[in-house]
Amino acid sequence: MAAVLLDGKQLAQAMQAEIAASVAELVQRHGVRPGLAAVIVGDNPASQIYVRNKRKACEKVGIESWLHELPKETTQTQLLELIGRLNDDRAVHGILVQLPLPRQIKESAVNRAVLPIKDVDGFSPENLGLLAAGQPRYLPPTPHGVQQLLLRNGIAIEGQHVVVVGRSNIVGKPLALILMQKAAGANATVTICHSRSRDLGAITRTADIVVVAIGQARFLKADMLRPGAVAVDVGTNRLADGKLVGDVDFEAVRHVASAISPVPGGVGPMTITMLLFNTLQAAKLQLAH
Ligand code: NDP
Repeated sequence: MAAVLLDGKQLAQAMQAEIAASVAELVQRHGVRPGLAAVIVGDNPASQIYVRNKRKACEKVGIESWLHELPKETTQTQLLELIGRLNDDRAVHGILVQLPLPRQIKESAVNRAVLPIKDVDGFSPENLGLLAAGQPRYLPPTPHGVQQLLLRNGIAIEGQHVVVVGRSNIVGKPLALILMQKAAGANATVTICHSRSRDLGAITRTADIVVVAIGQARFLKADMLRPGAVAVDVGTNRLADGKLVGDVDFEAVRHVASAISPVPGGVGPMTITMLLFNTLQAAKLQLAH
């Protein structure tokens, strides 16, 4: 059985066209162009690529973007000062601080410093709390992208057993919260696994949909999936030869799954798209302020 390919690249293009139309309408009706400020600390090459791609996507849909590049020895106080200025800048609707940060800066301090209404990554305690309370403001882009990738490919989530492997605050945990919401496009039965889960294969084999977000190349093997289940791959792992692979053993699992997302070209482009979506939402929310 050949699995249906969950093509995030193609879906991202379609959704970005919709976002571009909404941006144009906002500009025309209210004279407001959504703006995203991106901050990079240090010279991590992967971060440079991620931010470049995010800014390119902004440009494509008509969102203004600014890049703030800080040296790797930047102190937490200096970064928080910049965030304070961006919080006060009315042209900036969304603030994105690219992870990872150098060791001297606490991620939690940054997440608390970004004004929640400008927190388009959805990582602040307020926005994560709103999601947990069932009143989401901004959904974190990667898990939101996973949800959209499933729904827009006609894969029902309601009533399905979804096993999420990985419990980080930016992917696994918010994904579980999103899919278990009492809301259209959700209502899943969710199991969340992590590095201490016992007999992971026995758990993933009970799933209708498995989402893997752990950062271990080709971790999910064909015998860990029930034949006909769906596999979504969030992982991005660079092999020694430079090849980018996911957390799912794509070549093996595609013969067992009914649908599978590739890496690259699956969840990655969806993450960027949902960031644009949140920036547009942020501009709309800030119209009233
Ligand atoms: P983290 O390192 O923050 O979290 C990894 C999670 O995986 C942890 O919960 C950890 O468990 C769990 N884990 C690690 N090894 C195993 C294992 N052998 N079995 C079961 N669980 C395991 O990673 P992130 O969530 O930030 O990222 C995960 C992956 O997704 C990475 O490859 C990252 O590059 C990618 N990513 C991709 C994005 C995209 O847009 N495509 C966006 C964000 C991330 P424990 O909690 O017990 O330590």
